[in-house]
Amino acid sequence: MVEGFTPGNRSGERILFTPGPLTTSPRVKGEMLIDIGSWDADCVDLTREIREELVGLANSDEDLTCTLMQGSGSFGVEAVIGSAIPADGKILVLRNGAYGQRIEWMARALGIPHVVIEDPEDRPHSADAVGAALQSDPEITHVVCVHCETTTGLLNPLGEIAAVVEQNNRRFIVDAISTFGAYETGPGKPIDFSVGPIDHLVGSANKCIEGVPGFAFVLSRRSAIERCAGSARSLCLDLHDQWKGFETHGKFRYTPPTHVLLAFRQALLELREEGGIAGRARRYRENHDVLVEGLAELGFATFVPEPYQSWIITTFLCPEGFEFWPFYEALHDKGYIIYPGKLTEVDTFRIANIGAIDAEDIRGLVDAIREIQA
Ligand SMILES: *Cc1c(COP(=O)(O)O)cnc(C)c1O
Repeated sequence: MVEGFTPGNRSGERILFTPGPLTTSPRVKGEMLIDIGSWDADCVDLTREIREELVGLANSDEDLTCTLMQGSGSFGVEAVIGSAIPADGKILVLRNGAYGQRIEWMARALGIPHVVIEDPEDRPHSADAVGAALQSDPEITHVVCVHCETTTGLLNPLGEIAAVVEQNNRRFIVDAISTFGAYETGPGKPIDFSVGPIDHLVGSANKCIEGVPGFAFVLSRRSAIERCAGSARSLCLDLHDQWKGFETHGKFRYTPPTHVLLAFRQALLELREEGGIAGRARRYRENHDVLVEGLAELGFATFVPEPYQSWIITTFLCPEGFEFWPFYEALHDKGYIIYPGKLTEVDTFRIANIGAIDAEDIRGLVDAIREIQA
């Protein structure tokens, strides 16, 4: 057993090995059994507590502030892209998977000038290439990068890229949706606001904080979010206006996801009980190691080269003659939900090891796979 940790589904419910929604703890689910009014002080206090706790998790000396945005993680990313780029701005999008591609599509849909560096899905972005792109195109104002590409599980070198963005005097936006809560934050850590000009970093309720789906959160430098005033290309996804609402009267502009907020506060408490991000990272890392070792014994190799592999989600190559959907259904019937692959060139499937699960759950999954393969 991991100290300070309660596994989610040990009494017959299915266990999700997916990168959000994910398995949540019994207490997180239980928090959603009450109704609260959106104008009530309860909801205002809840919202304030969550925003403060998230800023605290960033562990930064910078003056950071937090905005919650209704919707899934993508709504938070789109709010940032649509609000932070001034009318004469231009984005450099780094893309080595579906989430980078989604940011490219957002820029296109919003009519924001952009260029893309596309790298293979099994290779991290190169800070040198980013530097060269910035030097050759003075119109670029912002660089956008996904920390862990959930498409594959590949981790991009955030610190190196941030340093190059800084040297070239541009601003940096980070999609840390799949890593925030699972990779340590603060000076010298994988997520470090002081390393470079990170203006906005996006996370989501239903990933490594282990809440349920319903809102995204954006950690912003106060000076950067102030610059977003009047720049939004959308009413609902106006990051600055949403933030102003929290700062002035403590409320969401439109209907708040009340039950999701209640569950999230509990999820934050459980993160603390587990020893904060360091504790959670330890559990996820062990989950990942047990998973990769167990599946290697059964003949499944991984897609992402080891040095770039995150401990969030792992892409496995399908062996000769392997058919995914019958495999998926057989696991489903045994109580385990895994994830299809998202690559076009190679046949793969994915297993995430985040959520209220520990090594015992992973061993259960590996045993189930062994039985199916027998
Ligand atoms: C989950 C995720 C998102 C958001 O996806 P939604 O489907 O909107 O929740 C964005 N980026 C990354 C890297 C993610 O893992």
